[in-house]
Amino acid sequence: MAVHFHEEDLPADVSFRDGPIAVDTEAMGLIWGRDRLCVVQLSDGGGDEHLVRFRRGSNYDAPNLKALLADPDRLKLYHFARFDIGIMQAYLGIMAAPLYCTRTASRLVRTYTDRHGLKDLVKELLGQEISKQQQTSDWGAAELNDAQREYAASDVRYLHALKERLDERLEREGRTELARACFDFLPTRALLDLAGWPEQDIFAHDG
Ligand code: MN
Repeated sequence: MAVHFHEEDLPADVSFRDGPIAVDTEAMGLIWGRDRLCVVQLSDGGGDEHLVRFRRGSNYDAPNLKALLADPDRLKLYHFARFDIGIMQAYLGIMAAPLYCTRTASRLVRTYTDRHGLKDLVKELLGQEISKQQQTSDWGAAELNDAQREYAASDVRYLHALKERLDERLEREGRTELARACFDFLPTRALLDLAGWPEQDIFAHDG
């Protein structure tokens, strides 16, 4: 169980076990085009996390990372995939799908609450406490401190376990196929964000 730190790409000799890979990103903010991508975090669910850090001025030429993320046979797990796949499309030029989104799954089954943050899900479904204290920290700093690295790693640490619990709930509520269809649509939703329809519901009659 360790957090591995890399600069600008995954080393070629990092190997991940088969199956889904948990992915998260940290950026300077939440607006594409203004806020650069700083970190991509990965976990295969085996207990280790890998952080790939991009410096200011990076050309985002990360062939090993891109090959893994764009692999059509590898399911990617996210919490709020819409943001992560959008910013990776914008900076890395790849669509990191197919995907599963724990936030979307939560919205479909935990209809008794409006608390769908990762911290809330980890607490309710896994009985664990995670800190979101570093969420708003400076991911563009020259060096990431230990608290930032631990926070970044913890954002991908629980996604495999959450998927298991959420899949049980989706099955119980008869919403497995609806969830799958939503996940499959998310790349298009992210492309709409990037193309200039960030908030509008293009399916709505008005607005
Ligand atoms: Mn995060």
